[in-house]
Amino acid sequence: MQQSKGAEIARGKTKVLYECAGEPERLIVEQMDAITAGDGARRDVISGKGRLAALTTSRVFRFLNRRGLPTHYLGGGEDVDHNAMLVRRCAMIPLEVVVRRVVAGSYARRNPGVPRGTRLEPHVVEFFLKDDEHHDPMIAVDEIVARGIASPQEVERLGALARATFDALEEAWQDRNVTLVDLKVEFGRLTGGERNGQLVLADVVDNDSWRIWPQGREETMLDKQIYRNLAQSDAEGLARVKRAYEEVAEAVAGFDSR
Ligand code: C5P
Repeated sequence: MQQSKGAEIARGKTKVLYECAGEPERLIVEQMDAITAGDGARRDVISGKGRLAALTTSRVFRFLNRRGLPTHYLGGGEDVDHNAMLVRRCAMIPLEVVVRRVVAGSYARRNPGVPRGTRLEPHVVEFFLKDDEHHDPMIAVDEIVARGIASPQEVERLGALARATFDALEEAWQDRNVTLVDLKVEFGRLTGGERNGQLVLADVVDNDSWRIWPQGREETMLDKQIYRNLAQSDAEGLARVKRAYEEVAEAVAGFDSR
């Protein structure tokens, strides 16, 4: 990746966005060594986590691009790139789009009548408003439209793109005998250029973004839920989290070869 960082334009819980010097339609996304849970209520630093997140998200985005899904990813994310990847600039839509195949997490909490582990066929799409202060509340399609967050056509496209993304990743994980339980993605509208306004998969898709259960067994999980479940952030627990992130970064490298 040749581009050099310009001014910092935004800072999230685990990443920093920079302008890309001399290229107004591009940005640089740098992943940090931070890991957080509970809307940032809990935070730790795991040395090397930024590198693993950059590797994972760039490999996933390359795989999705090859599958014809529109993403903001242009390049970078490998070790020579210092945890940074190059993306198309877009205006983020303040929604988290969650696709679920297996009942777990907040779905299980909100629907106590549905046993954990139940397979959802077809998969279920849910929208959450990005609003840490109010703990990212769930939002109905009508409300998304009524509040001017996205048009009805866009909401439909967001759902379709999220499902297609899930299907591609589900298949890739299934090849490795891993169940993709659920997935969170975010979208943006490209700004500038001839594709101005086009919806693309944006932000990151890394081991914080999904639940993955090898052999379909929850107790073998490899994703961020391991961190959420830690009783305390001791060295042993954080080392276990890091090992899982290493294994996942390695596994998604193989998504390329399909
Ligand atoms: O907690 P919940 O069951 O709603 O999470 C659904 C999926 O979305 C999980 O894979 C989780 O890792 C992901 N997620 C996320 N960022 C959030 C909330 C959930 O990546 N802020």
